[in-house]
Amino acid sequence: MKNPIEVNGRVYQWMQEPLVVVCIDGCEFDYLAEVVKTGKAPFLKSILKDGYAFKGDCVVPSFTNPNNLSIVTGQPPSVHGICGNFFFDPDLKQEVMMNEVKYLRAETVLAKFSQQGAKVAVITAKDKLRKLLGHQIVNGICFSSEKADQCTVEENGISNVLEMVGLPLPSVYSADLSEFVFAAGVKIMESSRPELMYLSTTDYIQHKYAPGTDGANNFYIMMDRYLSQLDALGVTIAITADHGMNAKTKSDGTPNVIYLQDLADHVVGQGNARVILPITDPYVVHHGALGSYATIYIDKVHQEKLINNLNSKAGIFKVLNNAEACAEFELPNDRVGDLVIVSDKNVVLGTSESRHDLSGLDAPLRSHGGISEQTIPLLFNRRLNKQPSKRMRNFDILDLSLNCLDARS
Ligand code: ZN
Ligand code: ZN
Repeated sequence: MKNPIEVNGRVYQWMQEPLVVVCIDGCEFDYLAEVVKTGKAPFLKSILKDGYAFKGDCVVPSFTNPNNLSIVTGQPPSVHGICGNFFFDPDLKQEVMMNEVKYLRAETVLAKFSQQGAKVAVITAKDKLRKLLGHQIVNGICFSSEKADQCTVEENGISNVLEMVGLPLPSVYSADLSEFVFAAGVKIMESSRPELMYLSTTDYIQHKYAPGTDGANNFYIMMDRYLSQLDALGVTIAITADHGMNAKTKSDGTPNVIYLQDLADHVVGQGNARVILPITDPYVVHHGALGSYATIYIDKVHQEKLINNLNSKAGIFKVLNNAEACAEFELPNDRVGDLVIVSDKNVVLGTSESRHDLSGLDAPLRSHGGISEQTIPLLFNRRLNKQPSKRMRNFDILDLSLNCLDARS
């Protein structure tokens, strides 16, 4: 028996059998319930039951990077520091991407186990997460489907990935990008049986298709096939999500947007407020950089006027100052603006109307970011041996998987 490992104040037992943690991007619980109804998802059906399937909460802002980092560190963004894809760097006085490892303030459970001798493999759909997830992993594998053709042993711990998987390089805007993650995961589990594997997909499908539609069901049926294969290899499988997903449209099907920069310019004058949308990333075609969370940098003099205006506006769910937002959502104060705005379930927040290109939206807008997308699934193929007493979080999944599951029966 190896000694338990402490990471960021939490203690993790060694795995009895390989553990595969899957983060399904944008997995509203209904996607799972709906695909099971088709009768074509036997694996998911087998674990969608008492003792195996739970609902919990993700981190707000309900975006991809903050939640993936929470899952692998076991901590909220106040500890690991990653609270969006983008933030306003007050020193540089500009908006910068937050996907460099220099912004990460905590160790990952993946890295810690690898440093203690565990074989670790990480596969992510988009390359934007790869460096953060792979940070300080020793002698492991870490690559993205997006750049699977460029893998080298030095950088990724593996090469010739396309040949190994037997699939072509997928397009970054496709379901294939996620399928590649699973296909590669199964191949690697068959060939080298890593002790700890982390698979993270992309929400391209969830942005486009609502639960129960053919587009969504086909995606989950594909996933079920690979999960069944992993299950048959005798591994623990733990599934969660980075966030949920909701329709963000008016009754006529057009995007339901509040353009905050336009509004702020009108209320407090141009140049007095800067709206940051932390959902912004280089891949915006499927959501137009529109989510239900924004932060605003604004000086004290103008704050009250803007707060009052926003509070009276339909579609705005919550307006918090920096201290309130960081306390409620467990965020790092120095990377959040003076105000945090969360919109209603079916409303998204933009900057200026002229800055959002919605021409790439080929389906009614679905997105995330708010409190309305906070509910996420936690599913296991082994029974949880304790009754969850508190609010479960997606970032408890490693703790639950390593410390609280029954051995295979
Ligand atoms: Zn996501
Ligand atoms: Zn998304």
